[in-house]
Amino acid sequence: MSDITTYQNYIDNTFVGSDSLIEVRNPANAELLARIPESDDAQVERAIAAARAAQKGWAATPAIERAGHLRRIAAKVRANAPRLAQIITREGGKVPALAEVEVNFTADYLDYMAEWARRLEGEVLTSDRAGEHIFLLRKPLGVVAGILPWNFPFFLIARKMAPALLTGNTIVIKPSEETPINCFEFARLVAETDLPRGVFNVVGGTGAGAGSALTRHAGVDLISFTGSVGTGSRIMAAAAPNITKLNLELGGKAPAIVLADADLELAVNAIKASRVINSGQVCNCAERVYVEREVADAFIDKIASAMAATRYGDPSVEADLDMGPLINQAGLDKVAQMVRTATGQGARVITGGAVADKGRGFHYQPTVLAGCTAEMEIMRKEIFGPVLPIQIVDDLDEAIALANDSEYGLTSSVYTRNLSAALKASRELDFGETYINRENFEAMQGFHAGTRKSGIGGADGKHGLYEYTHTHVIYAQE
Ligand code: NAD
Repeated sequence: MSDITTYQNYIDNTFVGSDSLIEVRNPANAELLARIPESDDAQVERAIAAARAAQKGWAATPAIERAGHLRRIAAKVRANAPRLAQIITREGGKVPALAEVEVNFTADYLDYMAEWARRLEGEVLTSDRAGEHIFLLRKPLGVVAGILPWNFPFFLIARKMAPALLTGNTIVIKPSEETPINCFEFARLVAETDLPRGVFNVVGGTGAGAGSALTRHAGVDLISFTGSVGTGSRIMAAAAPNITKLNLELGGKAPAIVLADADLELAVNAIKASRVINSGQVCNCAERVYVEREVADAFIDKIASAMAATRYGDPSVEADLDMGPLINQAGLDKVAQMVRTATGQGARVITGGAVADKGRGFHYQPTVLAGCTAEMEIMRKEIFGPVLPIQIVDDLDEAIALANDSEYGLTSSVYTRNLSAALKASRELDFGETYINRENFEAMQGFHAGTRKSGIGGADGKHGLYEYTHTHVIYAQE
């Protein structure tokens, strides 16, 4: 017990403990890794008050100085990259290579957002009156509550904190109770820098506890949430009495359309990566395939071989793996149940199809299901596991219609060598992102946002930055 770290909340640049604790375990082998605070309402209140007290002074600090703080934090992240990656692997089951990508991408993201310091611009609008000047200013919202998921927990800290701080907001972060250690370690690095008191705060806890306290609080000006549709909906309800502004990055069910003229090797490699990367637990990755009949057999053969060749196991002891475990028992049970339901409805298992026998971890076999149809749950609900359901279509029109017939609208992809088909798909696919002949992975200068139940607002780039500001229009008569 004594060598297990007990982390403390980071409030007003001070580490404060809690009587109530949550255990954090390695999903690959059930090893106890750490304990974190289950923050009560009073601790959440303190964090919001600290962020509030700091906000005016922080907003008055020149943007270029705020950017300097982000850069110094990025440097700390880089200097600690191997240790942070190891933590991400142990608490989230991510393979080491991907954990390293996540840490480096996070540092790059902090630096990227810092570059906006000299580019934040207002507007001067043309007036209808003589001698009148109209100025549109962009101002910070105030205090942001950032609520994080477990699948890219470290990057999500930066995705919320960097645009919030750069634009003059202060923030209270609540990491997922599944993967909080990396966030408390991040707070330790922030504490080693000269970031002013109260600008960045972390409270641990569950969704029902600290998460709910944050989203109900009238002192929060923006709830920036990434997670599931169900939680997003509950957060909207919690925010309603205070009309708190929301930024919701929710689930996905990304369709991949493979046309007869596609480069099949390319499509197979990119779609396999989608189901294997982070064990298929990625919001933007391909979760259902519509393949044109002429190439369906060839595609199914190739993707089944590729999926069957996946090396998977416990990434905290074996470095050279393609895939680790799922995050928890509930995640594993959900994937197993969805596959059972699909086969009961007539889907055929081409490879995999069962829980993997790999000790105490939550491992599921890389799985390909053929013969899927539009009404099957496996083609409609987010799987979040290494399972690929495939449906055969007659042409691009049918594929687009099926792709759009979804409650999700985050990302989509199309594989074709025909320029007209690619352009038609980009015009008709009703999603926030479409990847053409490449893997599903967004750029930090893009805008990651979904239609339908995939969310409200978005993240990254200029448009993501503006989500953390409000406009203030000044009408000045000479
Ligand atoms: P989740 O909704 O279960 O939890 C996310 C966070 O919300 C956690 O910190 C949790 O403690 C908190 N929470 C839970 N209930 C709450 C409540 N009532 N009030 C306030 N906070 C509450 O999601 P998850 O399982 O951690 O993450 C997986 C989901 O996230 C998937 O659906 C995935 O698609 C989605 N996701 C989306 C994006 C995106 O950019 N759109 C990125 C990553 C993950």
